[in-house]
Amino acid sequence: MEKKDKPGDFAASDIFSLLVETSEKKKRKQREELLAPLGVKEFFVDGKITIDKRTCKGVECKLCIKACPTNALFWKSSGEVGITEELCIYCGACVLNCIVDDCIKIVRRRENGEMERFSTPRTYTMLENAINTRKRHERVKAIFPTTEDYLKLYKPQMTLP
Ligand code: SF4
Ligand code: SF4
Repeated sequence: MEKKDKPGDFAASDIFSLLVETSEKKKRKQREELLAPLGVKEFFVDGKITIDKRTCKGVECKLCIKACPTNALFWKSSGEVGITEELCIYCGACVLNCIVDDCIKIVRRRENGEMERFSTPRTYTMLENAINTRKRHERVKAIFPTTEDYLKLYKPQMTLP
């Protein structure tokens, strides 16, 4: 027999989703306020950054802290790199500068829902290259929707079938 939800179940789940939504909104607002004075543009809806404390070279290095454009990374009194998640815009500058592969891991989501993840300068560069190639392709497609359109301009002497 099909189990029916009690009226109270709906109310509880509604309140829960409302609370989650409110806290998300609060977080976003706080983030906007923190980032506004820095004048940085956000390209990602959300993301996650982690640093592997077992492989981090810490005090001998600190390159990620120097590279971070928003001061999201800082040196903790406990002797490790700290992260202020509210300030991280998931730009990847820290990964690009990190001397240890897979030490800093970043997962980020674009507005169209696309997820990107990288943890080495190589994977970051490959990702950026793929994005730039796609953008170039889209721009060319917008100007020349078909091969014929391209040939009309650049090969006027050619006769098309
Ligand atoms: S991803 Fe960018 S903003 Fe975030 S900690 Fe790394 S360098 Fe800083
Ligand atoms: S750049 Fe990498 S190894 Fe160096 S302190 Fe930052 S996380 Fe640690």
